[in-house]
Amino acid sequence: MTLAEIESLLDKSFAEARAALAGAANPAALEAARVQFLGQKGFLQAAKKSVGQLASVDDKKKAGKLCNDRDRELQDVYQANLDRLAREARVAELAQRQDITLPGRRSRRGHRHPLSTTCDDILAVLQGLGFEPAEGPEVEHDFYNFEALNIPRDHPARDMQDTFYVDAGGAEVVLRTHTSPVQARAMLAAGKPPLRVSCFGRVYRKDDDPTHSPMFHQIEGLYVDQNVTFADLKGTLQLFAERIFAPGVRVRLRPSFFPFTEPSVEVDISCFACGGTGRGGNVAAEDGRCRLCKATGFIEIMGAGMVDPEVFKACKLDPDHVTGFAFGIGVERVAMLRYGISDIRLLYENDERFLAQFP
Ligand SMILES: [Zn+2]
Repeated sequence: MTLAEIESLLDKSFAEARAALAGAANPAALEAARVQFLGQKGFLQAAKKSVGQLASVDDKKKAGKLCNDRDRELQDVYQANLDRLAREARVAELAQRQDITLPGRRSRRGHRHPLSTTCDDILAVLQGLGFEPAEGPEVEHDFYNFEALNIPRDHPARDMQDTFYVDAGGAEVVLRTHTSPVQARAMLAAGKPPLRVSCFGRVYRKDDDPTHSPMFHQIEGLYVDQNVTFADLKGTLQLFAERIFAPGVRVRLRPSFFPFTEPSVEVDISCFACGGTGRGGNVAAEDGRCRLCKATGFIEIMGAGMVDPEVFKACKLDPDHVTGFAFGIGVERVAMLRYGISDIRLLYENDERFLAQFP
């Protein structure tokens, strides 16, 4: 080809190429025009190949510049149309999506789990009485979980809390069965009275039925000082019960046994559904018997007692000079009583239909 022929080729196809690239009405048509005119088999490539065959250097320069100018011009036209089509597609998409007559979409607001709420309420009441929250490990040494709390090896008292033992290469390690090891740790850390702590967290037992779970939450209170008496314990429990359940509930103590307290008591409160009468109330059966307290008028809520001297000894406190009381309550139990929940497993299944009832 001569220079004149190259020029003629470029002139002949340029107008057609520009019209096709600028006028393509959709991405597929634009791409077809790009392949046809700007692709490997297009006229520009053919013209560029011919440039190398020209004899004169001046002609080569002239033809090369012409090819490049035309190429750049057509690339700009192509890019401009590509951008325009993308913009139009976006506008069309938005127009389709936006329907201002639709009602607004409200984002749903979550709320706290009933167990968390109950746990916080209990801790807040205890904090008001001067008990400082304390936490400890859930995987605990046998010493803190049992030995320090007057539950020696091979003692039948261990059966009450048989638990999950962890194989820790010969170390005596268990998933803690109560939050009491936190008490032992607190006493050992304090070294001397006074001491007032509330221990809370997860504990583990070999239980699984509608009212027991292998994992549950416990909160314990411990008060150690000189001349702490059983009357102090009862006063604390009375105040605690009124704050957590209902004003005016009566507290009843029944003798019981725990290895780490002596004397030990089970703590009952008068039934807040039937007012302690055993009959009537909002959960009464057809025959009038209160379902919550099973017509007894009282509900068991926790265990308590005066700290056993053996526990003080194991925790390096002198039982001749200090006394103290301790109590422990299951958070699930309190939540179930407060909210009228009959199956403990509902608290762990995370069924929104259930949880939504406790905003
Ligand atoms: Zn009742």
